[in-house]
Amino acid sequence: MSKLKEIGLAKEEEPLTPQKRISPTSINNFFKCPRSYFYDYVAKIRVIPNIHLIKGSMVHETLEKFFKAYPKGDSVDLAQHALDIFETYWVKHQKEVRTLELKPEEVLTAKQDCLNMLNEYIITLKRQIKMLLDVGKAESERHAYYLLKPKFREIFVEDKELHCCGYIDRITKGFDGRITLADYKTSSNYGVGMTEEHERQLSIYSLLYNLQEKIMPDLVAVSFLRYGETYFLKVTPSLLRYARDTITDVWGKTRTIDIEAYPLKESSLCKWCQYHSICSGHDDWESIVRQQRLKDLVKSEKLK
Ligand code: SF4
Repeated sequence: MSKLKEIGLAKEEEPLTPQKRISPTSINNFFKCPRSYFYDYVAKIRVIPNIHLIKGSMVHETLEKFFKAYPKGDSVDLAQHALDIFETYWVKHQKEVRTLELKPEEVLTAKQDCLNMLNEYIITLKRQIKMLLDVGKAESERHAYYLLKPKFREIFVEDKELHCCGYIDRITKGFDGRITLADYKTSSNYGVGMTEEHERQLSIYSLLYNLQEKIMPDLVAVSFLRYGETYFLKVTPSLLRYARDTITDVWGKTRTIDIEAYPLKESSLCKWCQYHSICSGHDDWESIVRQQRLKDLVKSEKLK
């Protein structure tokens, strides 16, 4: 028996395992459809990258770098600075983009979409900078930039007792000392105000931040980069209670690897779901998992 086969059998026999740490994203996934949660986090079927995920990463990375420091030089153009940073990430992600085999015009549309989002963001930032200069709170654009710069760029928050963790995109402290946690959204799904999904996610961030930093944030926000709009939610004890109950509920319901415990939640979203072919009986999830494991093994063997 070849070593590959040996490892292959061992791996194939490896049982599925429940998710060890849940997150706001996986919790929302569970509410969207428990079966989809099962495929993502228990069977761990590999998520096929799509252009929306890649665009989201590039825009997030650009903003993170943008807020590292005010650019050097006499005449600074913040918009151009953001676009220059984006260009480096665009180049960095080209390999992934190519794997999607999009038409050239689709690639151009995706790039333009990212540029539009960043442009909207900078317009809002410049408006805030102008306001600070106008009211005399800042002496220069540079000073205003540092006043508006998030307190932390992306922060990892975790509570071991709740088995829950996540990344908060931005934390700001206002002049009055109020702390706001914000999540950037790059998706085009947008209505007026927040959805239940956003509220759930933000409430969990506020609880995790509260438990880890021992500080209760004042506000949580979702920032729609594409539209230049931000919606806020006040952090209250009942919001934290709601987050705790939600985490505990989902943790309890996801301790099994029995697929039957993760019912299908069929909706109009099914046609966009990557598991559509499995739910409609065209593919078998167990054979997909086996094939993926085998591919991983072949790859790791080649690397040795
Ligand atoms: S196709 Fe529908 S029912 Fe099936 S996993 Fe996706 S969302 Fe759930």
